[in-house]
Amino acid sequence: MTQQVQEKVLVKRDFYHLIINGEKVESSNGETFQTINPATGEVVATVAKASQEDAERAVQAARQAFDFGKWKQYPVNRRAQVLHKIAAIMRSRFNEIVELEMLDTGKSIGTAQGQVNQAIEDFEFYAGAIVGHRGAVNNMPGQFHNYTEKEPVGVCAQIVPWNYPLMMAAWKIAPAIAVGCSVIVKPASLTPLTAIVLGEICLEAGVPAGVVNIIPGSGKDVGNYLVEHQQVDKVAFTGSTPVGKGIMEKASQTLKRVTLELGGKSPNLVFEDADIDAAVDGSLYGIFYNSGQSCEARSRLYVHKDIYDEFLEKFVAKTKAIKLGDPFDKGTHMGAIIDQDQLNTIDGYVKSAVEEGATILTGGKVAAVEGFENGFWYEPTIITDVTQSMKVVREEIFGPVVVVMPFSDEKEAIRLANDSEFGLGSAVWSKDGARATRVANQIQAGIVMVNCPFSAMPGTPFGGYKQSGFGRELCIETLDLYTETKSIISYYGSRPLNPLGV
Ligand code: NAP
Ligand code: MG
Repeated sequence: MTQQVQEKVLVKRDFYHLIINGEKVESSNGETFQTINPATGEVVATVAKASQEDAERAVQAARQAFDFGKWKQYPVNRRAQVLHKIAAIMRSRFNEIVELEMLDTGKSIGTAQGQVNQAIEDFEFYAGAIVGHRGAVNNMPGQFHNYTEKEPVGVCAQIVPWNYPLMMAAWKIAPAIAVGCSVIVKPASLTPLTAIVLGEICLEAGVPAGVVNIIPGSGKDVGNYLVEHQQVDKVAFTGSTPVGKGIMEKASQTLKRVTLELGGKSPNLVFEDADIDAAVDGSLYGIFYNSGQSCEARSRLYVHKDIYDEFLEKFVAKTKAIKLGDPFDKGTHMGAIIDQDQLNTIDGYVKSAVEEGATILTGGKVAAVEGFENGFWYEPTIITDVTQSMKVVREEIFGPVVVVMPFSDEKEAIRLANDSEFGLGSAVWSKDGARATRVANQIQAGIVMVNCPFSAMPGTPFGGYKQSGFGRELCIETLDLYTETKSIISYYGSRPLNPLGV
């Protein structure tokens, strides 16, 4: 039964341009590609596909804007005002942007609304944070004086994945332009539309030409071109661990600054003293939010043996109640999977678990969704009878699939949690504050959620330990990662110095 279907407000555009040097342009060779709505399989729009020549023009525009332009010279309050204006325009076009993100990704409306809202708040957060970002004065002996300046790092290539297209673009663009950098954003080929619109909004809000360039195109082609480019100073990448490793290797040739937000296999620990209902709800959100296509998805669920049966019974019942359906229906809990390849990957992992002897408690197959037969959908899936060595326990699936295992005590829970090459998110459910703190301190991960389903809010650092990457986004520290620290040492003594004594 369809209820409360969102009224559509988007004025359909058939074509989306590149944004280079403040202009909406077609690609140099006229190439285009189509984006698909994963919920329906239908074409959403045609998009200009950047060539290496376009990437080169974008680098030169960004270089010109950074080296000779006014953006980084603006008083910080003026840049902050422009960031606020970007947020205000986004807010005034909220429903339209939500709709576009939904069409491009197949997300459910509640999910898309939350992400667009956060993208707006990210600009507001950095508009505030930048005003307080500053260097330091250091204590020096005698007649010496030292202070530091935070200078923008320069031209930044920002490579974005398809799971949170607008939010990831906002996480990258907002702090970079706040400090005065110029950026070239390479959206994921599967989901370029909202990043393009965000680029248009930046121009409308008063960001000068060349400061924000958006070049949808192939990662292997133009993404790699930016990573190797001599005149690009930094690359910020969010995506898979193998691609991230390749980027780090290539960026080393020019010693670019690199930040990497990569994959995860985040543990979710439910202790015997947890509020079981809250833990069930938080764990559901932890894995099935965004159809499990989250780097911080809590995909390894470890439950204390004393509450294992009770927890699992409730968890399975609620998982079975998750509604897949029209993404525009406010009653839909979970949207589509990004494409056929990802659907095959997810299904392949589930089949491998069965072959290795695991048990599927619920789900475990491609979902049939009435009215959306040409889309890509997967059933929310719970797997038990697993061991730490199984592929489904070790590797990132990036879909709505969770593995569940019992544990006996705190020590074992921590050992299991840390038994992974990744270290992005983690969660602890316990009413005992001392235990929660003790466990949080021992988990090797960039984020620990204690009795809390949310991993990222503007101001909270987001990023990984181990092979989940390095660098932090969404927080004050991010500003340091888009700046160089310059140390200025002065001598104020009355007598001239002659240290060589010549
Ligand atoms: P991906 O294949 O690594 O792609 C990510 C981005 O990199 C896309 O824009 C892609 O362009 C581009 N790219 C691909 N190959 C490249 C190359 N050789 N050089 C430069 N750029 C290249 O990952 P994905 O499939 O889009 O996203 C899913 C993965 O991202 C998951 O593993 C997930 O864990 C991770 N992720 C991590 C975080 C985090 O914050 N840690 C957040 C979201 C996602 P094309 O689209 O044109 O291929
Ligand atoms: Mg799409």
